[in-house]
Amino acid sequence: MSVYIGRCNSYEDSEGIVRKGMESLGGISRYARKGQCVLLKPNLLKGAPPEKAVTTHPDFIRAVVNILEDEGAEVMIADSPGGPGSKKMLHSFYRKSGWLEVEKETGATLCYDLSETRVSLPNGRVLKSVPVLSVTQEVDVIFSLPKLKTHGLTVFTGAVKNMYGVVPGLTKAAFHGKYRGIERFSDVILDIHDAVPPSLSIMDGILGMEGAGPANGKPVELGLVLVSPDAYELDIAACLSCGIPLNRVTTIRAAGHGDKKIDYTELTPDEIDCSIEHPKGGSTPWWLPDSLGGVMSNFYLKRPSLDHQACTKCGRCAVMCPEDAINIGKKGPKMSWWNCIRCYCCVEVCPEDALSSR
Ligand code: SF4
Ligand code: SF4
Repeated sequence: MSVYIGRCNSYEDSEGIVRKGMESLGGISRYARKGQCVLLKPNLLKGAPPEKAVTTHPDFIRAVVNILEDEGAEVMIADSPGGPGSKKMLHSFYRKSGWLEVEKETGATLCYDLSETRVSLPNGRVLKSVPVLSVTQEVDVIFSLPKLKTHGLTVFTGAVKNMYGVVPGLTKAAFHGKYRGIERFSDVILDIHDAVPPSLSIMDGILGMEGAGPANGKPVELGLVLVSPDAYELDIAACLSCGIPLNRVTTIRAAGHGDKKIDYTELTPDEIDCSIEHPKGGSTPWWLPDSLGGVMSNFYLKRPSLDHQACTKCGRCAVMCPEDAINIGKKGPKMSWWNCIRCYCCVEVCPEDALSSR
């Protein structure tokens, strides 16, 4: 397979660049045809304005919708963000992230259906079946629209990890607790990608995120668009373009694709040559017994830090924590020294950016 890497310094130009990328990879009709229903799976980690680079930019989603509608396809947009999940919460996240405008200005439909279906994975690395949003099984084609961001746990979150978002609600957090250890958890991410493989991944790297991603890193103008039918290759290309060592990215390492030869249809990563600040990543090792996992982590991984001024004591972090490691007291959340396994799920759901993995 191949990867297209294109430069794009403004979201206004993204439709032309994405078109060019798809043409270079065999043409749009190779991936979606007239009459088909295409599900776009962008990154809706939480409700955040586009300039914070937490979510896929609405102008980028609109560009892909326009291309597909010109082709005669019907488009749906869906994701299952962090937290327990409800239609009200989804609407609020869609609004804050600017996605309601995409629905208003195009023929695309934002999905509010949170029902789930179990997909079997007879050859899964860890999972033999997985619950996913039902809509993923009802459409003809899935396109992944990840944001180019760093990640406190997996170092980089791209096209492969973007598909983790099709796991409904709190099950996402529960997997962190059940499959502890970064290697094993990365296998879970790969299994989920393989359960709902996108036909095409189109990465929004125009405004990316560096540092303490995926929720409260620093937005960084990268001016990149990457397109590929192979999500693994796309992630490798993105990391090489941004100076992130492949052996540090646990999903790439777990997939064993680090030295894969990739065919580039436009620019190569060497021609991009940028560098973004990335976290060291990692989590509690899987081989530690549950009773010791949290406490041993204190020696080599940082617990999430709290900005007391910003915290509204809403309690979402405690609901999300798969280890019941958070108690909301008078002074806000208190994390258990014994139980926290450094999954950083709490950081991802905090609506006030009061928690950080930094
Ligand atoms: S840290 Fe964030 S999620 Fe937790 S109680 Fe405070 S504001 Fe709510
Ligand atoms: S406190 Fe936060 S980082 Fe620790 S286990 Fe709970 S959700 Fe994960």
